[in-house]
Amino acid sequence: MSNIHVRTRFAPSPTGFLHVGGLRTALYNYLFARQNGGQFILRVEDTDRTRIVEGAEENIIETLRIFGLDFDEGPVRQSEHLERYKECAKELLAKGVAYEDGDAVRFKMLKDGITSFTDIIHGEIRIENKTQEDFVILKSDGFPTYNLAHLVDDHDMAITHVIRGDEFISSMPKYIALHKAFSWELPQYAHLPLILDKNRAKLSKREGEMAVKDFLDDGYLKEAILNFAALLGWHPAPEQSSVLGKLLEKEIFSKEELIKEFKLERVQKAGAIFDTAKLDWMNGEYIRKKSPRELLERIMEAGLPLGSPASKPEYLEKIIALEQFRLKKLSEFPEKTNYFFKEPEYNTALLKWKNMSDAEIKKSLEISKNILESLGAQDFTKENLEKIFLDKAEDLKDRGELLWPLRVALTGKKASPSPFEIMEILGKDKSIARVASALNMLKPH
Ligand code: GLU
Repeated sequence: MSNIHVRTRFAPSPTGFLHVGGLRTALYNYLFARQNGGQFILRVEDTDRTRIVEGAEENIIETLRIFGLDFDEGPVRQSEHLERYKECAKELLAKGVAYEDGDAVRFKMLKDGITSFTDIIHGEIRIENKTQEDFVILKSDGFPTYNLAHLVDDHDMAITHVIRGDEFISSMPKYIALHKAFSWELPQYAHLPLILDKNRAKLSKREGEMAVKDFLDDGYLKEAILNFAALLGWHPAPEQSSVLGKLLEKEIFSKEELIKEFKLERVQKAGAIFDTAKLDWMNGEYIRKKSPRELLERIMEAGLPLGSPASKPEYLEKIIALEQFRLKKLSEFPEKTNYFFKEPEYNTALLKWKNMSDAEIKKSLEISKNILESLGAQDFTKENLEKIFLDKAEDLKDRGELLWPLRVALTGKKASPSPFEIMEILGKDKSIARVASALNMLKPH
């Protein structure tokens, strides 16, 4: 490839917000251009005027910006090239390979023989020409069809590699015939596999309609989404691990690593599975790797309501540090940590561990309260609290009898981090106040 100056393009139609499949196409084009020192171009295919969705182009550009898929040229809009497409249609009319059909212009397809070409991903592809029909290249409204416009632009923009979805493979005889008619050289083609759900069916309406923006709003980190999109149809050759003697498949990639390691020829032919559980896992991995400060920034950027405007960043960071090893999405933080910001509300039945009676619960909470009151504020470290409470629980047959009511009094939740970690953050006064208010709730009224 050393003699070719690589130029790729991402050519979305502004018919909706960018989906993960579109992000993958953009990413592969970007990676391939970057790893070859070439150019990546954004072209907006806006010739189907009836399907244009307001805000779609802005969303596509903004999403590429968020993911750092910087384009070197563009956005180039096809609607700016109408004269050029008309000229091309005229040229084909003049050559006798196209004809007028009412106000539209159609290209005449050869119906016998076979068209063959080599695809970087699929290898040699052969398609019988009888599968094709004469097709419109210029519509009566003066706008070109995709079939003509994309190919004229790919030529004019000196695109060397067309990397796009494999739904276009079946029309390749048309594109090859058009190239011949213009006496243009073919670019190289790489057709990307369809994205399927876990049952190998077409993505469900819900998943298929989820825009990248929806995933961002739902608390997925851009690093995780990009990494996930990269693996939709591509993965590196497994490496032999010297430690385990096993084949290891690397799954976590930064954008820089992808630029180095991505291989277009290793993209699979078969449909790529969109596995939401894998995305969740990956997002959890990225959440664990980030500093609490960075996560706080991301939570704020995503507009998630963590704490109140008055909450101090240091306080929020402590809470994030406590939860970041458990949570898979940024959007879980507000709900899972709400007890740090407001008094918990719960049913007293939740205070009960196994078969404890009300009197036993009360006694347990009184013991906790006494311990907490006997400590200085500086003793409220999780190590210290854990040691003191576990020592005390030695006397009991089941330490849950001491720790469960305490933890529920602090959080009002069935599941949470340990009471020691929570009390370290809440501090002495709040911790005592919560135990006291649980005791108060248990009083007969
Ligand atoms: N506008 C086409 C689409 O969004 C682009 C296909 C291509 O990359 O050639 O599907």
